[in-house]
Amino acid sequence: MKRKIYEILIIIIIIFIIINTYNLYRNNKQRKEVEVALQQFTEENITKENVVEEKVIDSYITDWNLILVNKQNPIPEQYNVQTVTIEEKWKVDVRIKEAIEQMLLDARKQGLDPIICSAYRTPEYQKNLFNNKIKEYKRKGYSQQVAEEKAALWVTIPGTSEHELGLSVDIVDRKYQILDEKQETTQVQKWLMEHCYEYGFILRYPTDKKEITKINYEPWHYRYVGIKDAMIIKEKGYCLEEYIEFLKENNIKNNTEEQIQIK
Ligand SMILES: [Zn+2]
Repeated sequence: MKRKIYEILIIIIIIFIIINTYNLYRNNKQRKEVEVALQQFTEENITKENVVEEKVIDSYITDWNLILVNKQNPIPEQYNVQTVTIEEKWKVDVRIKEAIEQMLLDARKQGLDPIICSAYRTPEYQKNLFNNKIKEYKRKGYSQQVAEEKAALWVTIPGTSEHELGLSVDIVDRKYQILDEKQETTQVQKWLMEHCYEYGFILRYPTDKKEITKINYEPWHYRYVGIKDAMIIKEKGYCLEEYIEFLKENNIKNNTEEQIQIK
């Protein structure tokens, strides 16, 4: 009899241990799940905060012609482009059609032969360009990471290209169509660099602003900002990033009647 009680007691203890072990296991699992969820939530929020912080400059100016797009300021997801065809096959934002056509017309009146070699690009097209450039560097023996970094210096990362805005055009001299620094020595570029401002365009990636724009010198990439802003940018020797900073520092909302003093 005593032995039987003893056996029952042992069975009860074993059952107790099993139940407790299972509970411990279940609690642990739940805690881990909560931890993972918490971590994901924090990470998401950190990323969101960063994006908001980086977008401060961009959201300051609301004028369509001054939208700043670069590595820190990707194109807003809802961005809508209404394009129109110019020069037979190139698409641009309908709002810059007249300006670009007038600029090309006046250049041609000077006996020059400018041709567009890139204008509006769909996000898919920009993605292809970028991936091809990465492949090119990888073929040269660079690692994925280095190839991406190098590609980003020449082809803008998808989602951060002005070409996706439809506000930029690449123009070359028909006599010299290679996109390299020698482009600046062509008659077409010499004329454009001097006169583009009169039509509301700026040379977007000047050689001395590489540190700020994070894009190599591109003596062929012209961005529309409007005549008034282009003139100030020329006068002050700014790149677009600096100009937006300047507006911000001086508390100038460009879409108001405030006048910007050129000194
Ligand atoms: Zn370009």
